[in-house]
Amino acid sequence: MKLKKSGILERFRTMIRLKTISTDSPGKSEEAVFAQFRATLKALYPAVFAKYDAFLVGRRGILIHIPGRQPGSESVLMAHYDVVSADESAWAFDPFGAVLHEGRIYGRGTLDTKSTLCAVMEAASFLTESGFVPEHDLYLAFGGEEEVSGPCASELAAYLESRGVHPDFILDEGGSVIPEGLPGVRKQAAMVGIAEKGTANYMISIEGGNGGHASTPPRHTVIGRLAAAALEIENHPFPASLSPPVIQMFRALSGEVPLPERPFFAHPELAAPAICAAAGVLGPTFNAMVRSTAAVTVIEGHSAFNVLPDRAALGVNVRLLYGDTLESAAEHLRQVITDPDASVDLIAGTNPSPVSETDCDAFRKLKRVISETWRDTIVAPYQLNGGTDARFYTGLTDHVYRFSPMVMTKEERATVHGINESISTDNLFRAVVFYIRLMRAL
Ligand SMILES: [Zn+2]
Repeated sequence: MKLKKSGILERFRTMIRLKTISTDSPGKSEEAVFAQFRATLKALYPAVFAKYDAFLVGRRGILIHIPGRQPGSESVLMAHYDVVSADESAWAFDPFGAVLHEGRIYGRGTLDTKSTLCAVMEAASFLTESGFVPEHDLYLAFGGEEEVSGPCASELAAYLESRGVHPDFILDEGGSVIPEGLPGVRKQAAMVGIAEKGTANYMISIEGGNGGHASTPPRHTVIGRLAAAALEIENHPFPASLSPPVIQMFRALSGEVPLPERPFFAHPELAAPAICAAAGVLGPTFNAMVRSTAAVTVIEGHSAFNVLPDRAALGVNVRLLYGDTLESAAEHLRQVITDPDASVDLIAGTNPSPVSETDCDAFRKLKRVISETWRDTIVAPYQLNGGTDARFYTGLTDHVYRFSPMVMTKEERATVHGINESISTDNLFRAVVFYIRLMRAL
């Protein structure tokens, strides 16, 4: 059997045209679009839905169960079908038009992550129609609230647990194949996330400005004092260290760096002091890899120009490195802020994820399928700076991996949540091939 590319393309474009935009408080009409997406999925893949059980979990979770030949060692393939909004005026094409232009399809969700969902369904459909039965049970789990950190993913994970499923392999979105490679690395690299940093929002506030008229101000208003606190946070970064996933990444890449740099990559723990000392000047991406980061993103004061605020607050977004916790990060902020009246409060957050195993069959299978699909590509574990739905599944197994099976340049990665998000048709077809191989290997 051969893949029919025109059919894949049309089904994918149908998915992109549905405006499944996640918002914090969706109304009835928004919920109806998500229901329409689920109905459309059934219509697009009749073979899959006729043969296997499908469940609606929670408000939007889709779970499809493909039984295998043997019990145990189940796998879960994840994606999400909600997207973020798009500012149409800035786009070259209608963000929900699924326009095909010079070998690319434009639209919100073409990379994040309707392409993944489509490729998983195409692979399942192709294998179903060719009579294939997987070795072990496969679960296809699609969330609908990833972009607003809704309960969908945790509900899906809890549902699997309640069914007594103990997966041996879970794959969600994450790193991709980076064609430009990494600095100093000669080959293109497939980055597989084995851990993700935690995310936390803290509010730092000072009260007791006593208000009053702006015509007779004190030397520092509460906003001035908070500005000083913001600078203290920026001037006292969290300490740098090499986390276990970062050490593994360096080791995996060591064979592909020129000889002079190779010892640094092969024995990163020995080079740690030098690597950490250089982190601040190696750019924001490298810096984020070796330490928890804090970004002051929100400021609240008074809305009138001529009134002294009696309270002001800063919002700080912290990304927690492995080893840090919600409490230790709050403690760090309290220590670097010298104003005795400043209070630090956690608004919401998650701790860093556990680190998934790489010395196991599950990871070796994934690595093999990646190498078969993209020739001459080095596979490297790494740690994600952002959060994924996968963090809710880490209680089910130590084999949770985060990899989006497509080649993505730096420019393409920048269009995720940005303008002109688009995928090449080659990337889409290759993703289907990847999932067919993966389903056969699991
Ligand atoms: Zn996203």
